[in-house]
Amino acid sequence: MEIRVPARITRRRAIGELKFIVDHNVGKLARRLRMMGYDSVFFSGEDDSAMVKQALAEDRTILTRDTGIMRRKAVSSGRVRAVLIESEEPEKQMRQLTAAFDLKGRARPFTLCLECNAPLENRSREEVAGRVPPYVYRTQTQYMECPSCHRIYWRGTHWEAMIRRLEKL
Ligand SMILES: [Zn+2]
Repeated sequence: MEIRVPARITRRRAIGELKFIVDHNVGKLARRLRMMGYDSVFFSGEDDSAMVKQALAEDRTILTRDTGIMRRKAVSSGRVRAVLIESEEPEKQMRQLTAAFDLKGRARPFTLCLECNAPLENRSREEVAGRVPPYVYRTQTQYMECPSCHRIYWRGTHWEAMIRRLEKL
C-alpha cells in the first residue's frame, strides 16, 4: 500500500515583509512607500472598523493620525499593528517611519506602481516603442510597466528624484 505524504503548502512570502494600510489622513505616505517598494493600500472609507478588519486579514500595519484607531481593541491588544503618525508633514512622517522600521535597509525601489500598488513588470525598449516620449526612448534602456494601469516607468528623472528623497531621510 502506498502512503501518500501530503505536499507541504509553502507560501512564498518574504521574511519580515512590511505591508501597510494608509489612512486617508496620511494619504501622501502611500505613494512614498510604494516608491520604496512597500505594498501600501490607501484607505479612503470612513468606517474605521473596516480598516482594522482589512489590516488584520491582510497582515498590514495601519498608518494613521487618528488616536481613536489606536484605542480600538484589536490595536491596543497588539493583534493589529498600527503607528500613530505624529507630524502633518510628509517628510517628517517618513522620518518617523524610517526610525520605526528599517525602511531604507529593506527598500526595493521601483518594484510597485505608484498609482495602483501593483508589482511592475520589466519591459524591453522595443516593447515600449511609441509609448514613451522620444527623448526617453533615445536615452533609456530599462523600463517597467504596471500590468494594471499600463503606466510605463523608466530610470531617469523618477529614479533620481526618489534616490534624492531616500538620501534625505
Ligand atoms: Zn498602475
